[in-house]
Amino acid sequence: MTDRSPLVRAAREGIGSLPLYSAESAVCAIDLSDNTNLWGPPPAALRALSQAGAPSLARYPSLYSEPLRDLLLEYTGLAGGDFDTITGCGSDDVLDSAMRAFSRAGASIAFSSPTFTMIPVLARLNDLKPVSVPFADDFDIDAEQLVDAAADITYLCSPNNPTATAASRPAVEYVVRNATGIVILDEAYAEFAPETFEQLVRESDRLLVARTFSKAFGLAGLRVGFGVGAQALTRLVARARGPYKVNAMAELAVRAALEPGASGRDWVAARARTVIEHRARLAAALVARGLNPLSSAANFLFVPTPDAVNIARELVARGILVRVVSGIPDSPSVLAGARGTALRIGVGPWDMMEALLTALDEIRS
Ligand SMILES: *Cc1c(COP(=O)(O)O)cnc(C)c1O
Repeated sequence: MTDRSPLVRAAREGIGSLPLYSAESAVCAIDLSDNTNLWGPPPAALRALSQAGAPSLARYPSLYSEPLRDLLLEYTGLAGGDFDTITGCGSDDVLDSAMRAFSRAGASIAFSSPTFTMIPVLARLNDLKPVSVPFADDFDIDAEQLVDAAADITYLCSPNNPTATAASRPAVEYVVRNATGIVILDEAYAEFAPETFEQLVRESDRLLVARTFSKAFGLAGLRVGFGVGAQALTRLVARARGPYKVNAMAELAVRAALEPGASGRDWVAARARTVIEHRARLAAALVARGLNPLSSAANFLFVPTPDAVNIARELVARGILVRVVSGIPDSPSVLAGARGTALRIGVGPWDMMEALLTALDEIRS
């Protein structure tokens, strides 16, 4: 189908040239490519799913995940105020719905680049003009440039995918306090970060904080994400999103995963603590092998290297899948020698990390 086919011309402008999302497709015994929880889902969620009865399948789920609301507000430390949640089919859906709610004619979205690959795609889909701003030299966000862009939406991602780096509190606060339009703060990796910023919704009714059950919570296959913010804001996003987007099984599993206790929330927190330990060990082991991961606040390491494509290919041959990130800029200066490519490597159980290091030693010897 060419761009000029009658069918493409009949479609909404620009749809025919939007890329379909493509991820590495090799099937590998050890898959470190997608930043999910490599221990799997919490036992409480598995139990809830296996005990689900027929009504959970035959009936519609809740309209807007009302049964999750109080749990999510409590989990984010925002119970008891004028705050509300908006869930979605993955946080992608929350981001998409928020953009749809605030996209007006000629509207723009500013973000630091490189960031989550879905952002430029969702921006185009929602007729938002993307304005990309380089990171500062220390990989903090450039708060002044982001604010000066005067965009209708400012998207912040901390810890950031793919770089794993975290924004500083002063920079995030500066953007939240001074941005012209609304601010979306994507905290998909909050559970692995030294600090999080969701409490800033107390200061601004124009801040939506997005979280997901796909990463630390090990439930990527169920597709659940949520946003939290002032009720006036989440209600606008809910209108743009529409009803019934989180299915009944997902809702059951999320409720169980959020339960306090050793097989729910505490299981997730314990795995996150182990990731943080393994992250430091793996980073040191990579440095000892001449690679230079950026300082990570997430459950993955970002390793700029001109050899990324070759290393990844050799790893696949040894049953290990990592993500190749290409098209990265040559600044900040630590990216300068990488010729635009990097590896993104998920952190998980140490036997997987050991297998990765053994394979790297074979490749490099
Ligand atoms: C993985 C990821 C998400 C979310 O994904 P969903 O599976 O759609 O919840 C959102 N933002 C970032 C930065 C991510 O890396």
